[in-house]
Amino acid sequence: MENGNCFESESKEKKDSSSSLLFLGTGCSSAVPNVLCLIQPSNPPCEVCTQSLSIPPEKNPNYRCNTSLLIDYRNDNGEHKYILIDVGKTFREQVLRWFTHHNIPQVDSIILTHEHADAVLGLDDIRAVQPFSPTNDIEPTQIYLTQFAMDSVAEKFPYLVQKKLKEGQEVRRVAQLDWNIIKNDFEELFVSSGLQFVPLPVMHGEDYVSLGFLFGSKSRIAYISDVSRFPSNTEHVISKTGGGQLDLLILDTLYKVSSFLLCLGCLISVLSVDTFTPIFYMLVQWYQRNNASMDRNSHNEYDLTYLSLEDAISRVYLVVVRN
Ligand SMILES: [Zn+2]
Ligand SMILES: [Zn+2]
Repeated sequence: MENGNCFESESKEKKDSSSSLLFLGTGCSSAVPNVLCLIQPSNPPCEVCTQSLSIPPEKNPNYRCNTSLLIDYRNDNGEHKYILIDVGKTFREQVLRWFTHHNIPQVDSIILTHEHADAVLGLDDIRAVQPFSPTNDIEPTQIYLTQFAMDSVAEKFPYLVQKKLKEGQEVRRVAQLDWNIIKNDFEELFVSSGLQFVPLPVMHGEDYVSLGFLFGSKSRIAYISDVSRFPSNTEHVISKTGGGQLDLLILDTLYKVSSFLLCLGCLISVLSVDTFTPIFYMLVQWYQRNNASMDRNSHNEYDLTYLSLEDAISRVYLVVVRN
């Protein structure tokens, strides 16, 4: 279940007959490997980044693109709809690696958690997964985002938002998107490609709200990729005693307390003794520890990026069982 692998369906027959989750990326905003580790190697060199280029990505837990999830939703008619959560800087690479690997033919709709670079800067490349039309005469892909994100995306990509050409402006092929505003409110449900989503507002730093999403009827799944603190009402919605037990919690590991990264063990114990009691956790936003505020030579000791998600799940599962 590491890079690009599916949760739920490993065999082709099973994949065709059920819904599944494809983790297109589980890395941090700068992705892993960290390029500085490769162009200015430390002495000794960083093991994480050196290893990340020596093994094929599909077998390598240390090669991680920006965090993004593709929901392969099989509806009641047996049709597969592909719902993409976040379109970051590495989107094109993720399509090349994982859409081809898993025979994903298209993206049916898009949901954005927030408007940071690692969640939206691949939007230009959505045209690569849309039918070709030099005149842009195609059905637009539905995209769901908050008004705050919409305002920011409109500044970053005015040509993706512009409805009509200005006088004298020539037609150029760009992604065709139909923008739908959603609310920072768990009571304002919305439906994307036939699947219902509950927005889960969470703090992403104390000055910023990002969205997680709750979805699934047979399995109750919460996806929260960017969170530093859970507001109490969001916590209530995904807690066993509030909205009901989750089957799967997909959670940001860049969980910060003050300016310090909380270690995985601490994070899990905090969550597992708290009100969340999902059956499984999965962890995204895995970090290659290496920036100016940290001792660069110490990041080899930081072992989170050495763990595959399978390792993480088995460890976490033990914690959940103990509780
Ligand atoms: Zn490194
Ligand atoms: Zn962010």
